[in-house]
Amino acid sequence: MLDNLTSRLSSVIKNLRGQARLTETNIQDALREVRMALLEADVALPVVKDFIARVREKAVGVEVLQSLTPGQALIGVVHDELTRLMGEHNAALNLATTPPAVILMAGLQGSGKTTSSGKLAKLLKEQMKKKVLLVSCDVYRPAAIEQLKTLAGQLDVDYFPSSETQKPVDIALAAHDYAKKHFHDVLIVDTAGRLGIDQAMMDEIRALHDAVKPIETLFVVDAMQGQDAVNTARAFNDTLPLTGIILTKLDGDSRGGAALSVRHITGKPIKFVGVGEKLTGLEAFHPERMASRVLG
Ligand code: GDP
Repeated sequence: MLDNLTSRLSSVIKNLRGQARLTETNIQDALREVRMALLEADVALPVVKDFIARVREKAVGVEVLQSLTPGQALIGVVHDELTRLMGEHNAALNLATTPPAVILMAGLQGSGKTTSSGKLAKLLKEQMKKKVLLVSCDVYRPAAIEQLKTLAGQLDVDYFPSSETQKPVDIALAAHDYAKKHFHDVLIVDTAGRLGIDQAMMDEIRALHDAVKPIETLFVVDAMQGQDAVNTARAFNDTLPLTGIILTKLDGDSRGGAALSVRHITGKPIKFVGVGEKLTGLEAFHPERMASRVLG
């Protein structure tokens, strides 16, 4: 990642040569270049502004050590700030509760909630040897319920049936009860998503949260959403005590700026990334790799 940034900044950091100290003036061109890189990666403008302000604050006054060039010193500050913003380390899924550990999936329609529910079920079953139950509370789209059922069948994971005539909270509570009685370790609750954020949707998912008290409330967001991811993330974060994020569709050509924006706005860790439509396409999030991608 340092290499990426170093090559990107090579022409502007020449101006820093011979400076003993980083100043507001001598880092200006380099910061402009960092800003461009972030905007090109689709990081939301307010997030870029905050980031640059933090880097400036940290960098100004930094004495350049004998062993470093001034350019390296600045790149070091940018690197540290990016790593900090990305979350430094991968945050693991938390399942430490009396079973069943409930995972609530939240996000807009099309973000990849249902697919990610299936992917998570596979990972929990195969890698962590957990007994998983899947349930869909998307009573507005029978096709979504059907989609989850199909995924459960493919994975040979238990599935709790639901239908559009039921209330989402009733479904979730019944599934929770069933999971308890049948000794499931994890219950994954897939929820309805709308095309945009609306109050009814937010009230509903809030009610679901209150009913099943998930240990993980994961916000699923499409990396291709770019700048728009910020508003969605803010709305979900204001409504629900999110515990983590799944950033989907990173196999697309997005530079992944949404990762930075969503993390910055919510302050919550990105736990997984979706890297394909197949059920194998879920990976733990690696902040360092993401930082690299975003800087391009
Ligand atoms: P939901 O409406 O939030 O439940 O979204 P879905 O799970 O139905 O996903 C919407 C579309 O995105 C489907 O066509 C999925 O196959 C696709 N999708 C989900 N996750 C990924 C991913 O990580 N990569 C790619 N390329 N496609 C994905």
